[in-house]
Amino acid sequence: MSDARWMKTRCARFDHGGCGIRVLIDNGTAVQIEPDREYTKSRGYICAKGMASLERIYHPGRLMRPLLRAGKRGEGSWRQVSWDEALDHAASRLQDTKDRYGAQAIAFMQGAPKGLEHMLLTRFANAFGVPNMAARNDVCHWSRELMARVTCGFPPVPDYDMPTQCIMLWGSNPFDTNEEGVLGIEVTECLRAHTPSLIVIDPCETAAARRADLWLQVKPGTDDILALGFLHVIISEGLYDETFVREWTTGFDALSESIGPYTPAVVAGKTWVPEETIRRAARLYARSTPAILHGGNAVENSSINSTSTCRTLAILMAITGNLDVPGGNIQAPFPPVLSPRKFVRMDDTPEKEAKPISVHYGTSRRVPGVPGGLLIRTILDEEPYAVRAVYMQASNPVISYAGSQDVVTALKKLDFLVVSDLFMTPTAALADLVLPVATNMEFNDIGQYAMVHGYVEARPKLVEPRGDCWSDIKIINELGKRLGLEEYFWADIDDCLDEILAPSGLTYEAFCEQGLLKGEKRYRKYREKGFSTPSGKVELYSSIMEEGGYDPLPVADLEETDDRRFPLILTSAKSKYFFHTAYRGIESLRSRAGAPAVRINRETAGAYAIAEGDLVEVASSAGAARFHAILTDAVLRGVVMADYGWWFPEAGERELFHWKESNINMLTSGTPPFNPVLGTPQLRSIPCVVRKVTAA
Ligand code: SF4
Repeated sequence: MSDARWMKTRCARFDHGGCGIRVLIDNGTAVQIEPDREYTKSRGYICAKGMASLERIYHPGRLMRPLLRAGKRGEGSWRQVSWDEALDHAASRLQDTKDRYGAQAIAFMQGAPKGLEHMLLTRFANAFGVPNMAARNDVCHWSRELMARVTCGFPPVPDYDMPTQCIMLWGSNPFDTNEEGVLGIEVTECLRAHTPSLIVIDPCETAAARRADLWLQVKPGTDDILALGFLHVIISEGLYDETFVREWTTGFDALSESIGPYTPAVVAGKTWVPEETIRRAARLYARSTPAILHGGNAVENSSINSTSTCRTLAILMAITGNLDVPGGNIQAPFPPVLSPRKFVRMDDTPEKEAKPISVHYGTSRRVPGVPGGLLIRTILDEEPYAVRAVYMQASNPVISYAGSQDVVTALKKLDFLVVSDLFMTPTAALADLVLPVATNMEFNDIGQYAMVHGYVEARPKLVEPRGDCWSDIKIINELGKRLGLEEYFWADIDDCLDEILAPSGLTYEAFCEQGLLKGEKRYRKYREKGFSTPSGKVELYSSIMEEGGYDPLPVADLEETDDRRFPLILTSAKSKYFFHTAYRGIESLRSRAGAPAVRINRETAGAYAIAEGDLVEVASSAGAARFHAILTDAVLRGVVMADYGWWFPEAGERELFHWKESNINMLTSGTPPFNPVLGTPQLRSIPCVVRKVTAA
């Protein structure tokens, strides 16, 4: 007999989350999904990935039991084990590694945060004394966040709730891919209700570019130069907010002098954006009051000089008077929940015996975690010390990290690798122990905790986990207790949720009723206590950067080096049907996404005798991968844009899911140069060449 009823939760686990959903539950099974039109954050929006949630839960390929390796690594030979055996095994191998080589021989790795799992893993690392936790901070979010923090003391986020006169999307296409903390629907509503101007900076004609009043089709990898060109126009034409600059900034004279070389004419030559378009865009942004500057993840991946680009963007917000004002870029108020610093026990765990690898590589210690690519180098080179065991959560570095070949070599070199995931992946296939995890609808979670957008959201459980799946947070809680760390963990993982919510006075149940918990928004807080920088002002010339041995002012290299072997520029974009490397096995998404593709400018394709649909090999100095050609005018001559994140679940584990075939990270390199502040490798704007693959 049916007991069907609609229940509410929020979408997540292979996305950052943000959308309210209603799910029809019948006899304990989720049978239908639709957007929650009452949820204020997503306003009735749901994307294709969200709609595929039920397909993901009931997918036949899901991992259902813990698996212990029974053959050679990567051979696909496993023995199903109980959770007791799996956790005992993991605990004894981690403890043994620590006893013999010290905690520095262990590292934790994780993919993009989805819920509380990354916070639990950080707490575990602190409690167990593990110095190296490789999150994806160096390739996502921290270039923007850290550079804003050193400039103005907080990470400014767009204030889409208030009227704004202009939105400038820089390397962001929220209408297709949404973003951590911001959904495209919020931008759409803002534009519809009260924003007359949209500027888009993107090398590709995206959904955002098509809507723009001004689209700047920048040469891939030159955003740092273009941003300095904006500064040049705004400062030389006196378009900045004089009162704010005088009263609330330091280093304006040094900045003004340093931007001398970046005239619109020079910048136009380097970025391929016409000189007059640069001037028009800079003037439009500076004269619109207030205005939002919304920088996306692509800014951080555009080149290894991304920290300079992000510094310039923060400076642009500041000198135009758009910091912490309604409809500008604001310091979002933290909701009334436990401080993340307290949650991860940052200040009351024993000092770690070994220094993190960031000290060895000279990257910033202000970033939580260490750069993932540098951890791979450390495993390979055993400098500054050997790393022998890795616990990995929701991450697929064989596909998502630069220099895939090196990643595989490094993972194979480990004495012990544990991977928790929903599905077997090219990375999980190389593990000694694979742990099957629950989807967001199968456990109670809190979303957006420790993020900078000023809210947390409730993600209550709707159905029992399938098979023997556990949530990542339950796994860490139980593993921690097995390692004698009872004081840091909970009798039941649901107690952890109440502890986080305690300052709000809400129980988890009451929080779920409410759905969303926001901090109280206030503007221009700097007028009370100044900015949280050493000078109390916005530091255009950064004393923190200078003290760290980095450039105190944003700079960009105007020299160009040509390699005749690789005359084209490779860039990439994320698909609206996948989240990084996830979902390749979900049929409804796969069929809509089509085959791995490379978009090539029509004229360029003609020069290489490539026709629509041809199988094309794209090669760089690091390696090659194959994609199907889409001929287009959406990218400029000389630019090719390949899909990111591809592997083939249908190829099977023994073939390691054909991980090399269409993997763009076969063309990137995990070797220096890296971004000096974050340790980020070159992920986009790679010199390359294309050729049609002809049948043998
Ligand atoms: S945008 Fe993200 S949170 Fe919203 S439905 Fe899609 S996958 Fe889910």
